[in-house]
Amino acid sequence: MTEKTSPSLTRSNIRFVLVRTSHPGNIGAAARAMRTMGYARLVLVAPLHYPHDDVIALAAGADDVLENIVVVPDLATAIADCRLVLGCTARQRGVPLPELSPRDGAERLHQAPPDDEVALVFGNERSGLENEELMRCHAAVHIPSVPGFSSLNLAQAVQVLAYELRLAALHGVSLLPPPLKSDPLATAAEMEYFFGHLAQTLIDIDFHKGRAATTIERRLRRFFQRAEPEQRELRILRGIFDDAQRMARLAGSKKE
Ligand code: SAH
Repeated sequence: MTEKTSPSLTRSNIRFVLVRTSHPGNIGAAARAMRTMGYARLVLVAPLHYPHDDVIALAAGADDVLENIVVVPDLATAIADCRLVLGCTARQRGVPLPELSPRDGAERLHQAPPDDEVALVFGNERSGLENEELMRCHAAVHIPSVPGFSSLNLAQAVQVLAYELRLAALHGVSLLPPPLKSDPLATAAEMEYFFGHLAQTLIDIDFHKGRAATTIERRLRRFFQRAEPEQRELRILRGIFDDAQRMARLAGSKKE
């Protein structure tokens, strides 16, 4: 994803992702909200109406954001190369994800090494993010609105998070020690590949024994997302799966 640069734009490894936005005006208003805080990387997942005059009207001159918009068909594509993905939700869903405040979320994103792609994901105006989409995130970010009227307008939610990112950038967050030098974290695409291998291994070793696989898969997904594994660690685990699958095949052929 290429980007034009301007001195008043901040970090370039942070992308804002809007999923299935219904109102094009919200896309424009989100672009404006981002631009005021120095962010220009906007990815649209299957927008309902785009391009549209309302996008341009509400963007109020945030041209460097509009020029760099990338449109993709699904969330997996939008975040494939990301090593940290935070999903913004108006309310807690059936998905037990760790929850961060906007400030903590912004600090986490801001602290990612400059070469690590990171994403902040926002849902559709009416339905928010689907559970399956939230499961692809490392944590949920909730703006602490009042219970019973918790949902902000999409572009206003984008504004709150962009503002927090701006604060983190201005204050150069560093109450926390610098992260230890480590191997690169796995990307979202690598995590998906890993989850596929894990699911197949559980089947091959007959772990489920007739029980539904979904619950256990969700729990394990949450566990591994929370661990934020490095690429090398995933390779070790996948090596273990390969061996377990090989042993299961051997055991199967002995029985025959
Ligand atoms: N009824 C939907 C609300 C969608 S509002 C739902 O309950 O999820 C559109 C998007 O704005 C949400 O998907 C979320 O990304 C963001 N948003 C709105 N209010 C928010 C809040 N209080 N905290 C975090 N994100 C919020």
